[in-house]
Amino acid sequence: MAAPQRAPLKPLSEALAQLLAAALPVAGTQQVATLEADGRVLAADVVSALHVPPQDNSSMDGYALRVQDVGTPGVQMPVSQRIPAGSAGAPLLPQTVVRIFTGAPIPAGADAVVMQEDCALLPVQEGDAARVQVNTAPQPGQWIRRAGEDVARGDVVLSRGQRLGPAELGLAASIGLDQLTVLRRPRVALFSTGDELVMPGTVAPQDMPPGAIYNSNRFFLNSLLRRMGCEVTDFGIVPDKLDATVQALRDASAAHDVILTSGGVSVGEEDHIKPAVQTLGQLDLWQIAIKPGKPFAKGTVGAAHFIGLPGNPVSSFVTFLLLVRPFLLRLQGVTDVAPKGASMRADFSWPRADKRQEFLRVRRNAQGGLDLFANQSSGVLTSAVWGDGLVDNPAGQTIAPGDTVRFISFAELLA
Ligand code: AMP
Ligand code: MG
Repeated sequence: MAAPQRAPLKPLSEALAQLLAAALPVAGTQQVATLEADGRVLAADVVSALHVPPQDNSSMDGYALRVQDVGTPGVQMPVSQRIPAGSAGAPLLPQTVVRIFTGAPIPAGADAVVMQEDCALLPVQEGDAARVQVNTAPQPGQWIRRAGEDVARGDVVLSRGQRLGPAELGLAASIGLDQLTVLRRPRVALFSTGDELVMPGTVAPQDMPPGAIYNSNRFFLNSLLRRMGCEVTDFGIVPDKLDATVQALRDASAAHDVILTSGGVSVGEEDHIKPAVQTLGQLDLWQIAIKPGKPFAKGTVGAAHFIGLPGNPVSSFVTFLLLVRPFLLRLQGVTDVAPKGASMRADFSWPRADKRQEFLRVRRNAQGGLDLFANQSSGVLTSAVWGDGLVDNPAGQTIAPGDTVRFISFAELLA
């Protein structure tokens, strides 16, 4: 009799494509204050109703003038008016200069600003108009910021599906928007499974029974979900009973877009999550060709997506970043979900190739290269704290010092 065939491992790219195909953006938009919109995703294009800057203005403290009045450096002219930022001046009188400050509108008739460092204020009788000597030959347009050079009226300054960060919020405010239309946050229910798990705070370290470990996944998954813009309902550890699990899943599915669990998705594992999900909906157990990672469950419970992550902390952490992160961003309508990564030099050796695509925890060093954390085991969470990113090492590939590798920083993955 032939040995039972093991399903071939699913390439990461295929798993990601399948997940993203299922990730239809959540329905429902919301108006939020621009001040509160950090991390949210725009539900509509943002069009400017005005030019930014609204008019030509000075980019220096100095003197506005007409270039043809200067001729050669050293010319002396009276100061005919003073325009601080926030006030509009009168048109320039010929053969005079205007004292002007950064951000103040350029008066009609002026075509350049000479910075104050290039001018000398001349002594005058008390009561007489101030006079300056212009010590340079100005070029037309110098030190003038043109109306609309940042944004022109009618420009689409931010696009639907764009995630808002500090710069985007500033730009929205610069065109006068105090409210933005964003997608509602995905609602995610988070569960941990595993009879060995104990919640920190419920049992002191010295009183932990044999075989017990603290539930660490809950803490980073909760934090990762919030960073991804999700509204999290944290159910903690699901009671280890089929009925209770079915009930919890049923309750969660009614009010959540996604149910995320960790643990109990290894093949052949006798586990309450699998039968419970199958009682209510449908579940696929995948074996993904990545390390750490591999076991992964994707299904549905009612209208909610179900995602089961592996239990090993680093597997759970890395699988979240590689698969769940893009999935959650896509649920929020973000189109561009792939991390860019960067080419960097490995300052370490990785002599044993693996048949799976590996994600090694590494850290940038002062020499511009990457160092490797010594223990790459999927249970060693220290590696993710020590490291500042992952090397994406293709299947079957060894690494020698000096090789160019693909580095994906945690900064990029956690933003
Ligand atoms: P499992 O995927 O359930 O077979 O778990 C694999 C390994 O991860 C086991 O050593 C578990 O004890 C551990 N593990 C599972 N869930 C957690 C969790 N929430 N926190 C820390 N370790 C976990
Ligand atoms: Mg388990």
